Amino acid sequence: MHRRRRTRIIATLGPASNSFEMIKKLSEAGADVFRLNMSHGSHREASDLYNMVREVEKVTGRPIGILADLQGPKLRVGTFKGNSVTIKKGEKFVLDMDDSLGDEGRVELPHPEIYEAVMPKTELLLDDGKIRLHIDKVEEKRITTTVLVGGKLSNRKGVNVPSAILPLAALTEKDKKDLHFALDLGVDWVALSFVQRPQDVQEAKDIIAGRASIMAKIEKPSAVHAIDEIIALSDGVMVARGDMGVEMPMEQVPPQQKKIIRHARRAGIPSVVATQMLESMITSPVPTRAEVSDVANAVFDGADAIMLSAESAAGDYPEEAVSTMNRVAKSIEREPSYRRMLNKDEATPEATTADAISAAAKQVAKTVKAKAIVCYTGSGSTALRASRERPQASLLVLTPNIGTARRLALVWGLNCVYSQDAINFQDMIDKACNVCHEYGYAVGDDRIVIMAGMPFGTPGKTNVLRISRVQDYHIKV
Ligand code: PEP
Repeated sequence: MHRRRRTRIIATLGPASNSFEMIKKLSEAGADVFRLNMSHGSHREASDLYNMVREVEKVTGRPIGILADLQGPKLRVGTFKGNSVTIKKGEKFVLDMDDSLGDEGRVELPHPEIYEAVMPKTELLLDDGKIRLHIDKVEEKRITTTVLVGGKLSNRKGVNVPSAILPLAALTEKDKKDLHFALDLGVDWVALSFVQRPQDVQEAKDIIAGRASIMAKIEKPSAVHAIDEIIALSDGVMVARGDMGVEMPMEQVPPQQKKIIRHARRAGIPSVVATQMLESMITSPVPTRAEVSDVANAVFDGADAIMLSAESAAGDYPEEAVSTMNRVAKSIEREPSYRRMLNKDEATPEATTADAISAAAKQVAKTVKAKAIVCYTGSGSTALRASRERPQASLLVLTPNIGTARRLALVWGLNCVYSQDAINFQDMIDKACNVCHEYGYAVGDDRIVIMAGMPFGTPGKTNVLRISRVQDYHIKV
């Protein structure tokens, strides 16, 4: 339960981690949230993974978040004679709606939306951006291009259209089925892939109707341009660097990562940095220096969470990958320069009671050298504001709502404890002191700062700040 690390770790589950024992190992190594990637595997497999995580949660006693990541619209070319062709630089290549087998000069592109949306003099990318095509001419069912970067192209490879907003529904039929399945299962977060515009988030929000929190994956240039509107509608954002690095020049990804993290923090929603963080650990028990630097820099940027994809889902060293992230994050968080970086991006409190109390709690905790700030919350909104302050003292969240505790598992610094609401002022102090003592966040004459709302159990009423000494109270746990 006791976790000093503030940056959270998300581990994707898959064939390398589909057992109770491995999920428990990953949780003990530091994973706070598990991701179910709906692009792979059956509903049966996802449901088994979900149940295993909930079993692990019972054993470890720490609320664990589960994130279902929807595939989103995947655009693909058709198939080729002999399954693949080599496309040569400088030659013409045509994409059309003809479903016959393709060759060196043409292939089917069975997505009418693309023909409507693309413009001449822009680029079409194939196979994760490995092949680049310059668009010369667009007709109703035919796009003529010149090959800028050629290579081998095989059946059903992916297509990216960075320059256009495609008239595609936010959720495909598969996404809708997966979403209903995930919501029935009881996942805490749903991640939306290929968000193009704020309306995409709104559409999903209307279906989800508060049953899970929504994470918008930022990977399209159009989403980067509308980042503040998307943040305003989302509960969290993910810097999905895999597709972002195809849709935008790769050198644009690091500045976008910093910007998205900064804007999310300002808005008080969590940000996740994802993809290739410890890529070499898919096959090696140790990371490269550059990967350690990448994880360290995401922590320095102030991200709420860092994510493992294939490293924990399909790699040979899932546990080592989680413990590497854990070690790197803990080490960076001990650096004095980490605190300076967090303070540099400090977000101004808004004119609300919750923000006034959160900012005051941080200041008071610093002044009296309190070991922990304890935050009572029902919906989690006050805890999010407290995390936004990035206080030095540990943050403990007491909530009678297990869904809130699980959802907050990916938020910077929040250690959630499922606990009954306080019934009166004395009970509020007793519970807070007991939890700090039980989990080792404060002992003896250590001080703690308590944030709560009176009357107790009324949402949106954070209005109390109390300083207590842990030893003044009987331990009743
Ligand atoms: C990404 O593109 O970086 C990402 C996280 O999405 P996915 O793993 O679903 O491709």
